[in-house]
Amino acid sequence: MKTYNHIAFNKPYMTGNELSYIEDAVRSGKISGNGKYTKLCQEFFQEKFNFGKCLLTTSCTDALEMASILINIKPGDEVIMPSYTFVSTSNAFILRGAKIVFVDSTKESPNIDVSKIEQLITKKTKAIVPVHYAGVACDMDEIMRLSEKYNLYVIEDAAQAINSYYTNNKGETKALGSIGHFSTFSFHETKNIISGEGGMLVVNDKKFKDRAEIIWEKGTNRNAFFRGEVDKYGWVDIGSSFLPSDLIAAFLWAQLEKLEDIQQKRKSIWNLYFNELNDYCQENDIIIHKIPKHKTNNAHIFYLVFNSLKERNSMIKKLNNKKVNAVFHYLSLHKSEFYKNHYNGEELPWCDFYSNTLLRLPLYFELTNEEIKTITSIIKND
Ligand SMILES: *Cc1c(COP(=O)(O)O)cnc(C)c1O
Repeated sequence: MKTYNHIAFNKPYMTGNELSYIEDAVRSGKISGNGKYTKLCQEFFQEKFNFGKCLLTTSCTDALEMASILINIKPGDEVIMPSYTFVSTSNAFILRGAKIVFVDSTKESPNIDVSKIEQLITKKTKAIVPVHYAGVACDMDEIMRLSEKYNLYVIEDAAQAINSYYTNNKGETKALGSIGHFSTFSFHETKNIISGEGGMLVVNDKKFKDRAEIIWEKGTNRNAFFRGEVDKYGWVDIGSSFLPSDLIAAFLWAQLEKLEDIQQKRKSIWNLYFNELNDYCQENDIIIHKIPKHKTNNAHIFYLVFNSLKERNSMIKKLNNKKVNAVFHYLSLHKSEFYKNHYNGEELPWCDFYSNTLLRLPLYFELTNEEIKTITSIIKND
């Protein structure tokens, strides 16, 4: 009988320079926020992806909370977002008293169904928060059209979407995170580029640039003071301590230096899964993750979608029994213990469908071709 070694769902990948950059930061004596490595990372993102002002945060959750403060969310304001997402997408606005208006996913992918958004816009609607699930773009043309027509902010939850692109109807290709008024990224150890915990707010709308920096620095104009723009520094607004230590940024910088290698490796893993499983999935009525036209793949997640909860769970069990840690993903937020009693919208059948039927396979830099073939052969052999 074949014996199997344990295959984890995720393993954080260290590129090699993390410790030496952290050591450099420690020896420099400057380990609080907004130091050398923070600036290196922020400039890297601004240049490589044509982002507006970038501010590192301690998480994507924090970056979402900053965006919520920046657009002055007040009790009763409405914020439109998919229900198939992580809790932080909602919590950031709930914390400021917003009502969340959840939208279904599409039949084709877990992303927000943009054809259902317009009918949900009211006088109280303040923002739309598209989530680029698995790093694959939402239909941003329609979201930006609605944003202009109804004067709404767009905050891209790009937690999973580093190094992924969208080609709009004018033929322009833009990095995810550069399209909305704001976007938020995560460097949690489960993402493509990591710093343990970590995140970033991107401020594309220039009019929020200065205030973003103030909110980031506990409501003070400290940064303007250090740049010599004001002659004293003090308390000028609400804010919090959203900026990470430069030690976190030093770790992140080591990752960013290897961004291309990491992405290339992840894409080759993704492609091997696809090639090994495509025929099998076609024959067995399993939906394989496909990348639509005008959108790119950043190989954040490789997923399969089964016909029912029972089929999905039995595949998870089959893989787990052979020591492969395959997992499901989000549970509909509108049905969560916290929100179900506040939810008075329509049924969201596609969101529920993905909660019940989506399965994610292990995907990380150090996953070997042999391990991938072990996984795909377990899937294919009954
Ligand atoms: C990971 C993730 C977050 C949260 O990121 P943190 O950095 O852990 O706060 C938010 N939204 C989405 C869609 C995510 O995948």
